[in-house]
Amino acid sequence: MLRSLVIIPPSPPVARTPVAAMNERVNSTLTLETPVQAPPQLRPLYQVDERLAPLYAEIADCPRCPLARTRSRTVPGSGPVDARLMLIGEGPGQREDELGLPFVGRAGQFLDELLASIGFERAEVYIANVVKCRPPGNRDPLPEELAACGDYLERQIEIVDPLVIATLGRFSMARWFADARISRIHGAIASFDGRTVIPMYHPAAALRNPALRDVMKRDFAKLPALLADQAHTPAAALTSSVAEATVPTPEPPAAIAETPRPVPHVFGTPLPRTEAIEETTADEPEWRDPPQERLL
Ligand code: SF4
Repeated sequence: MLRSLVIIPPSPPVARTPVAAMNERVNSTLTLETPVQAPPQLRPLYQVDERLAPLYAEIADCPRCPLARTRSRTVPGSGPVDARLMLIGEGPGQREDELGLPFVGRAGQFLDELLASIGFERAEVYIANVVKCRPPGNRDPLPEELAACGDYLERQIEIVDPLVIATLGRFSMARWFADARISRIHGAIASFDGRTVIPMYHPAAALRNPALRDVMKRDFAKLPALLADQAHTPAAALTSSVAEATVPTPEPPAAIAETPRPVPHVFGTPLPRTEAIEETTADEPEWRDPPQERLL
């Protein structure tokens, strides 16, 4: 239940200033001024519940890692604070950096298609990334950047308190599934502290490898059953009931029941970047949008 909404414009584009200078900026983004040049259909996504607004303001001025120097806008996340489903991607791309919203490029279009396939709209789910600022050139976020930004995601999860989290891509997957390969565990259902987590490919992967489109749709098809009639029920019961309700797929994932919660190594201890790259396989392409992005 939303208590009130604050219209939060995306963090304004900033000059490439030293971090020290950025520290001196005040929270100038929390205004009601007309903020964006975003397409009209995206503007409602800038409505942020008051419970998230302080965190968004903090992120807007964050100088914690070098990405603060190269970002145009921070991309804290979008969606209702009481969302039952939370999607966690990896990092902003070019369009996200320009507009201050997650998943507004071609991958976002496919994400909308995936949500529509299960009867959801973008505005019903909460979407965030593991890093809130765009890595230059769409490179992978560095371990120190993941570590610096991890606290923001933890706080988002705590505030939104979703029933189900779908990780999109390798970096968000690694928050719960250390050392796993996404090609092996996508679509698996796990429980952590009463919350269901299901790893999935990043939508951008399907842009590069169309064969993954159907794979992602099958994984998304599991979400309604995970969300239906569940109010933080015991994890074992949840996993069991969903496993029975899941439509068989050509490559059925193994359910991971009651997986011990790993130490959040991505956020606490840097993930060796070389290992992450080595995990990439032919069916596990780069997660970001291909270069030619366009608006919704
Ligand atoms: S990526 Fe995260 S930690 Fe780094 S500057 Fe942006 S908000 Fe701060």
